[in-house]
Amino acid sequence: MHNEIRQGEAYAPFAIEPEKYKRHFYIESYGCQMNFSDSEIVASILNKEGFGATRNYEEADLIFLNTCSIREKAEQTVRKRLTEFKKLKQAKPSTLVGVLGCMAERLKSKFLEEEKLVDIVIGPDAYRTLPQLINDADGGQKGINVLLSREETYADIAPVRLNSNGVTAFVSIMRGCNNMCSFCVVPFTRGRERSRDAESILNECRDLISMGYKEVTLLGQNVDSYYYTPPGDLKPVTFAMLLEMVALLSPDLRVRFSTSHPKDITDEVLHTIARYENICKYIHLPLQSGSTRVLQMMNRNYTREWYMAKVDRIREIIPECGISADLIAGFCTETEDDHHDTLALINYARYDMSYMFFYSERPGTLAERRYNDDVPLIVKKRRLQEIVDAQNNLSKESNFNDLGKTLKVLIEGPSKRNIDEWMGRTSQNKVVVFPKQDKNHSPGDYVHVRIKYSTQATLIGKLID
Ligand code: SAM
Ligand code: SF4
Repeated sequence: MHNEIRQGEAYAPFAIEPEKYKRHFYIESYGCQMNFSDSEIVASILNKEGFGATRNYEEADLIFLNTCSIREKAEQTVRKRLTEFKKLKQAKPSTLVGVLGCMAERLKSKFLEEEKLVDIVIGPDAYRTLPQLINDADGGQKGINVLLSREETYADIAPVRLNSNGVTAFVSIMRGCNNMCSFCVVPFTRGRERSRDAESILNECRDLISMGYKEVTLLGQNVDSYYYTPPGDLKPVTFAMLLEMVALLSPDLRVRFSTSHPKDITDEVLHTIARYENICKYIHLPLQSGSTRVLQMMNRNYTREWYMAKVDRIREIIPECGISADLIAGFCTETEDDHHDTLALINYARYDMSYMFFYSERPGTLAERRYNDDVPLIVKKRRLQEIVDAQNNLSKESNFNDLGKTLKVLIEGPSKRNIDEWMGRTSQNKVVVFPKQDKNHSPGDYVHVRIKYSTQATLIGKLID
């Protein structure tokens, strides 16, 4: 999931003892949750080398941008950000600037030619070699490693939890993607799909529980195709099995996951979600387009009818399940009829929320090679707005349906707008805000909240004893 609010967020772990570290790094992350998770791995690798973090790039010896290539705009943001470091580098030439993640992988050595101030370019599977590249760059030699791996899962690296609320954490369960959706750059920037050792996932979750965490989100581009074969003759672990194993660690630990590809989510997964109270009743099920013809061009491997049947199945097995989607407006050759199919399917699925984008052609993807990006920008934007309007109506309606209900909420922290209020989430991933009412609650507590009002994005309620 691509959280707009967190784009460009900088991290500062280990800020308590700044004098302990020989050098300081600054790391800023863009893109999907996977990148934010990777920054936690990078922080762990750097910390072992004696580097501490700072939130102020002006005092950093190393500046890193963990980048995203998913849409053109994401890349432009990073290019613009890089120009802001130019002055700093002129004043203090020993400062190293590194580009990490998907843009590094996509542009490879071109990045070093195009952006002269960049010293290090490193792809998502090469973070273990970062200390060596820093060493080379210190000696004046620009460093690049964009090798993709078929095995790397960083299973043995304990991520340093960055900007954590101490309640919710992301746990990466797989890397890469084999799906080749024609619009998508991910298979090229993150390589082949590989699943992480199940035991190392469980150990990371156990550690989080012992540190007081109450919610984990299992992360991957397509979690439903998780498949880990342990060495020896032990049985392979599927996603449904993994979900159950994590849920059984503690009834107090909420379990979420993201993202599901509609073609891969099985009944077995749905029944596992239904069976355990602590597996959240929420599924992010990207649709992309409601037109079978467009879906075929996108290489999504399902039809409009098949997707609708999947939504019906979710509602049948988990009646209280929240569902959200990703949607793309204006893909190549999309007609008004195709667009209306998307609008109609949004209304059929009754999503609680969606992430919505207009199509952005990405170099090297199947769509770029095969099709013309022929929907004019103005039409893409108008269609996107119609999709946003349809979703806004559904989100309002979904929240309106919760009025008067008493919902179980996990408190994540004080509300951003008012410190006298708590902010938390329901199992369906809805944000709930409510007054603290002088009760002795703290982040990580489960409470019951009666919903009094709602806005499009938030439920507002009152604590119930
Ligand atoms: N793996 C997930 C899946 O299959 O649904 C999502 C991965 S991607 C990081 C997140 C979303 O970005 C996609 O679901 C899609 O809606 C959107 N996206 C990807 N490529 C895009 C493009 N070229 N233009 C516009 N949106 C795009
Ligand atoms: Fe991209 Fe499709 Fe893989 Fe998602 S499933 S990361 S959209 S190729």
